[in-house]
Amino acid sequence: MCAGSYSQELTLLEQVHVALGLASKLEEFYLIVASMLVDPNTFGFSRAFFLRYDERTRTFSGRLALGAGSREEHERFRNELLEEARRLKEQVEVVQRESPEALALQPIYNLRYHSLWIQLLQGREEGTGLNDGFQRLLLRRDRLSQRHLLEKVANASGAVLLDDKTTERGGLEPYVQLPAVAGRLFTRRGLHSILIADRLYEDQRLGEETLYHFQWLLNHASVALENVELVEQLQATTQRLQEVDRLKTTFLSIVSHELRTPLTSIIGFVHLLAQEKAGPVTQWQRDLLRRISQHSAHLQSMVNDILEIAEVEAGGMINVHLEAVDPLAALLTTIPKIEARRGAKKVAVEPVMGQAIPMVLADASALERIYYHLLDNAVKFTPGEGKVLVEFHQEQEQLDIAIVDTGIGISQENLKLIFNHFYQVDSRLERNYGGMGIGLTVVKLLLAAIGGKIRVESTPGHGSRFVLTFPVAEEPA
Ligand code: ADP
Repeated sequence: MCAGSYSQELTLLEQVHVALGLASKLEEFYLIVASMLVDPNTFGFSRAFFLRYDERTRTFSGRLALGAGSREEHERFRNELLEEARRLKEQVEVVQRESPEALALQPIYNLRYHSLWIQLLQGREEGTGLNDGFQRLLLRRDRLSQRHLLEKVANASGAVLLDDKTTERGGLEPYVQLPAVAGRLFTRRGLHSILIADRLYEDQRLGEETLYHFQWLLNHASVALENVELVEQLQATTQRLQEVDRLKTTFLSIVSHELRTPLTSIIGFVHLLAQEKAGPVTQWQRDLLRRISQHSAHLQSMVNDILEIAEVEAGGMINVHLEAVDPLAALLTTIPKIEARRGAKKVAVEPVMGQAIPMVLADASALERIYYHLLDNAVKFTPGEGKVLVEFHQEQEQLDIAIVDTGIGISQENLKLIFNHFYQVDSRLERNYGGMGIGLTVVKLLLAAIGGKIRVESTPGHGSRFVLTFPVAEEPA
């Protein structure tokens, strides 16, 4: 172990810290820890081994082995690394001498230093026969004796110095030479792996000091490992969620496509019947056909809404044509559609007209659909005999259109959520109000496409106020 003095130890600590911080995948983590262990300037072991523990099968399996296959190879490897380190150190000294500023060179140097080791070691990995053999190794924990190297380490709380006399190697003979140091890597999930390092081709002794530094690496490595596992878990979860989201979008779009075709036929045939193209109909039959027609149209608009959401989610766009639109005319076209659906409820929808209402820059059919959803909600959540008002208010170049109801209202926390699709404040199966929870999502998408805005104010128990804002259009000549 090269680290002797306090300041040297600090540098070593810093290097371990920086290097371990670089790992975001398990493979990288193994490589970084192993490279530090065989680094002649830090830990200086000849070889380092990881044995990953699988709690489910109770087996240890060889994960990675680094090091030389012979004394000559070890010497050459060591000299190469030392030479590389020396060259880097020289470069850093030159920069430090010639640069007037005391840059944070030391950490940069350490970082490069370690990434270089890693490159070197990665290059070596393929050529090392030892590595291949070790990868295939598998030892069952329940077949190991108490004296077995792995069992001893798995049960010890700290790093241990293993010697020939008290330790069995059963199954590890071709790989691990004793004396060696070993310790366990632990995460919140339990025993993760066992780390072993030996000094096959070095003459330095393995003593208490080595053990102390090794333990210290284990502590740091366990924390780093925990982070790596968390990052990997997070990545896996994100990937899974993205996949689920994609499936949902595909599902929605297929289903709504398939629903649209038969619906169009139903609407067409009902129309033919109502027009007596297939023979005379009685008044009662006409009334029933009108209702079928209304319900089918409603179903069709729901299917179209879902399809639109699915298309936008899949990266598509809503087709709109921006032009000067009369907001009052669009409202008057929409009101009968709501009444057809809500007629029985006796909630009046009334525009408040005090001033001249300017034209706005929008898309007429998009604006009608926006009105439709907001009015449909306003009527739905307002008790019978109540009133829904639509107020217009011009403020310079903008027109505010407020849909005001005296219904059940929305709490502050729910206000943030109602624009998410399929979100309903009351989502119980036996909920009191119908709907799919997509009306406001469609409103949001349409507004984004035509460049309008929406805000909501609401008091639970008193009612809600959904305010649309559009730019005023230049009056047509
Ligand atoms: P839904 O089809 O359920 O009406 P929306 O996306 O249009 O779907 O609305 C989502 C939810 O927001 C509704 O289920 C309801 O809980 C709440 N909401 C929307 N508008 C109003 C309103 N005017 N008054 C009270 N709650 C409302």
